[in-house]
Amino acid sequence: MIVFDGVEKRFGDTVVLSDLSFTVAPAEHVTLIGPSGSGKTTILRLLMCLDSVTRGTIRVAGQELTGDEKRSRQVRRRIGMVFQQFNLFPNMTVRGNLIEAPTRVLGLSKDEANARAVELLDLVGLREKIDEHPSRLSGGQQQRVAIARALAMRPDVLLLDEVTSALDPELVAGVLALLRDIGETTDITILCVTHEMGFARDFSHRVMMFDGGRVIEDAPPERLFTAPEQPRTQEFLKAVL
Ligand code: ADP
Repeated sequence: MIVFDGVEKRFGDTVVLSDLSFTVAPAEHVTLIGPSGSGKTTILRLLMCLDSVTRGTIRVAGQELTGDEKRSRQVRRRIGMVFQQFNLFPNMTVRGNLIEAPTRVLGLSKDEANARAVELLDLVGLREKIDEHPSRLSGGQQQRVAIARALAMRPDVLLLDEVTSALDPELVAGVLALLRDIGETTDITILCVTHEMGFARDFSHRVMMFDGGRVIEDAPPERLFTAPEQPRTQEFLKAVL
């Protein structure tokens, strides 16, 4: 579903990703871990076409991401992203947030988009909030709406960028439980950046450890968390676990 082939990303003289190659299979859940500044968010931004590679190629569902705006829009449509800071449209209700892209981008009728919104709010447990504005919701509720909004586009790929980092500790578990539920009940391919190692361990099929713009270890979580091979991974896990 996702292929990075010899990808380099530099900003001026700073090489952020260097000769990076990896693949993610359909329906696979892959988690990226590693120190701050190692290039994890840059990978998600490249996939969302918010930035472009300086060398190498990226393909999503067989389509190469080029600088071409029309092509980018087609690929982006297949990818949902959830951010650390929710990024809901503050001037719209929850319903408005959920029906905006399906009507405008996918061309669904208002009724179709509304039915989809209600179904997704049932999934995330917030149906009664459909006519509220985001500012009236807790951080955890806003994040669950943001997840519902990403799913409303029926994406093939879901990108999760530290989606619990901005939440109060008591709200984290509810969002992670929702993601586990989505992981178990859909075949969406999920690429996730997180500092929640417990979640990474039971949600991922594979964990990739990044350092200095390279994958230094790529293994199933049960191996990576219990018997990491690379000294750098051992050191990182000792600091965060
Ligand atoms: P991570 O998500 O692992 O913390 P990032 O992908 O955010 O890492 O950043 C990787 C490196 O790229 C950092 O050193 C960061 O300063 C640099 N970087 C990211 N975006 C830009 C940019 N627009 N201009 C210059 N440097 C950037």
